[in-house]
Amino acid sequence: MAQRLIVIGGDAAGMSAASQARRRRDSDDLEIVVFERGHFTSYSACGIPYWISGLVPGPEQLIARDPETFRTKYAMDVRMRHEVTAIDLERREVVARDLEGGGEIRERFDDLVYATGAVPVKPPWADSDAGGVFGMQTLDDGAALRDWLDAETQPRRAVVVGGGYIGVEIAEALIQRGLSVTLVEAGDQPMSTVDADMGELVADAMRGLGITIRTGLPVTGLEQRDGRVSAVVTAEGPIPTDVVVLGLGVRPNAALAEAAGLPLGPTGAIRVDRRMRVPGLAGIWAAGDCVETLHRVSGLPVNVPLGTHANKQGRVAGINIGGGYATFAGVIGTAVTKVCELEVGRTGLREREATSAGFDFVSVIAESTSRAGYYPGARTMTVKLIAERPSGRLLGAQIVGWSEAAKRIDTLAVALWNGMTVDDMTSLDLGYAPPYAPVWDPVLIAARKAVDALDR
Ligand SMILES: Cc1cc2nc3c(=O)[nH]c(=O)nc-3n(C[C@H](O)[C@H](O)[C@H](O)COP(=O)(O)OP(=O)(O)OC[C@H]3O[C@@H](n4cnc5c(N)ncnc54)[C@H](O)[C@@H]3O)c2cc1C
Repeated sequence: MAQRLIVIGGDAAGMSAASQARRRRDSDDLEIVVFERGHFTSYSACGIPYWISGLVPGPEQLIARDPETFRTKYAMDVRMRHEVTAIDLERREVVARDLEGGGEIRERFDDLVYATGAVPVKPPWADSDAGGVFGMQTLDDGAALRDWLDAETQPRRAVVVGGGYIGVEIAEALIQRGLSVTLVEAGDQPMSTVDADMGELVADAMRGLGITIRTGLPVTGLEQRDGRVSAVVTAEGPIPTDVVVLGLGVRPNAALAEAAGLPLGPTGAIRVDRRMRVPGLAGIWAAGDCVETLHRVSGLPVNVPLGTHANKQGRVAGINIGGGYATFAGVIGTAVTKVCELEVGRTGLREREATSAGFDFVSVIAESTSRAGYYPGARTMTVKLIAERPSGRLLGAQIVGWSEAAKRIDTLAVALWNGMTVDDMTSLDLGYAPPYAPVWDPVLIAARKAVDALDR
């Protein structure tokens, strides 16, 4: 009899796991059943801001594989609009509810992949029945915001609450659609994924694009008129608006797992080993935004909800379920984004993370250009490096610049992953020609400056 794999969650982690398991085991050997409560499988939430702005024409472009493709080409039993409501580890069964009114079912499993992603943080004040208030997590959220923006009563003013990368990307999308946008952030700066000095560069650039930024200002409520949101409430008074988008971050969607007895770690996400197995529970796997993983620099468990990790972790789980051997090696916190033309990249630890992980370090900021100064299109680029004292080991890096900045972080990520020191980095054989870099690449200039700062 074929063994049975049940996957909860039909997006990045879940479908990567299912696809890899199928590549290694055919349907006579392994039956695969996927439960997905939404309307889509394998879609790119990362692309939603570019669909909102109009850069990507339609949601179809954001879907890598639809349920029918998984059914016909991959011999999977994909149950859309089915929400798993309980996991019975003793009987090795899941309980699922058909959200289209088809009742409740129980399904047996030999292996289970838990890949439910994350849930957006939603404070009580955001639980409003007013029209025009949107979260930004799924393709359905994107569709709802698009419909609202396209409706006859076209909104003119928008407030984005929360200045993380999703809030910043949505602010960009709305300004590109011609709305007047205010970004309200409770902390001291938007883009707190980089240090304050680098975040200030991002904030300046956003202001230059016409986005109003209000920092240190928690939103405490919403006002509405005729069933539609009319303002967000703050200690400094209401900010009038026609539409509100929430970008307050996410937390691991682990409630179902916790209720079933899967172990959670200090981050509130599910604990897994390097093969994505849930420790102590044979045949139970978890991957994606709902799990915690090792930060290779701090050595601490972290929950980093990014698509890049979800895809890799799902792949690892699927290879192992399929009978192969694969491990997920942890993360170093690499991420990139942009606000219109301004690109932002980071890897490793920020200053406050390096401090709380107990490192003694120096940090330097180097200003340079993306291309040779005389070459058309050369724009400023700021590179920040954080290096351990006295060893010089790279601990973290951040880049903000107007062109060719974001993906330069990959050079630094590779250096950091391999434990390079800033001394080693000064001799890196990086490509040079005037259209691509100054003769001393910004990365090399920053490394030289860090060596000087170490003052050994
Ligand atoms: C606007 C936006 C922009 C982003 N940009 C980037 C980016 O540029 N780079 C990057 O790396 N990451 C980005 N991300 C993050 C990335 O999308 C996520 O990290 C990734 O989708 C996580 O994949 P996952 O499979 O773990 O979870 P998800 O993609 O959230 O999938 C989980 C699935 O499980 C389903 N589900 C949950 N509970 C149940 C249940 N009980 N029963 C059945 N189904 C259930 C959900 O409906 C969902 O489809 C972005 C996210 C957003 C929202």
